[in-house]
Amino acid sequence: TPRKLIAGNWKMNGSLSANDALLKALLQGVGTPGCDVAVCVPAPYFAQVQSLVAGSPVALGAQDISAQPQGAFTGEQSAAMLKDFGVRYAIVGHSERRQYHGETDDVVAAKTAAALANGITPIVCVGETLAEREAGRTEEVVKRQLAAVIHVNGHCISEIVVAYEPVWAIGTGKTATPEQAQGVHAVLRAQLHHAASEHAAGIRILYGGSMNAANAAELLAQPDIDGGLIGGASLKAPDFLHIIAAAR
Ligand code: 13P
Repeated sequence: TPRKLIAGNWKMNGSLSANDALLKALLQGVGTPGCDVAVCVPAPYFAQVQSLVAGSPVALGAQDISAQPQGAFTGEQSAAMLKDFGVRYAIVGHSERRQYHGETDDVVAAKTAAALANGITPIVCVGETLAEREAGRTEEVVKRQLAAVIHVNGHCISEIVVAYEPVWAIGTGKTATPEQAQGVHAVLRAQLHHAASEHAAGIRILYGGSMNAANAAELLAQPDIDGGLIGGASLKAPDFLHIIAAAR
């Protein structure tokens, strides 16, 4: 099984002073972690966070990446710009971007390709809404979302990270049970096996959605849960450190 990855998604939170305090506390407590650790921060803070985490086990991540290499795309950040600041990971296709910014599976696939082409590891998010779950469509939805990125041409799919984030569990305090999460992770693993059998076991599938200090250990103990993508709890150093310690 791969080394686990615990990634914080700060979303649109933070300030120069809050980031400084959070990262100093994180770096003070992280020691030599038994997993990979990343923080996916708002783009205006790339330079600040790059310098704070330099030489530490904490990697810098972005929350999005443009599918385009450069040019007239107001408001977007290219893969090359991310690379300029030492960005190692980019979240792609988060449900908030699918929901509020109209990102389709095709857009998510193009962004995944842009990340891979530039040596940035895409953290590709999939997940069903409450209505889709209640209609019995969970498997169909997550398989469709994953299929869109598996078939990205010419790139080594082994370089992606997948994050299963049930939309109904994000920011709601309603975590998927370990059994519910493991069930979907097993479906995704089987799909990866089918598409890329030699790589499937090494591709990390993270769980995200109200993961916190209290429930992380049980989720991370599931055989196909290879880490976490953490929103709210990544903004509190003690909670995030607790989750990191649970991932070994
Ligand atoms: P919460 O941990 O706040 O539920 O957010 C999960 C998430 O969306 C991470 O990308």
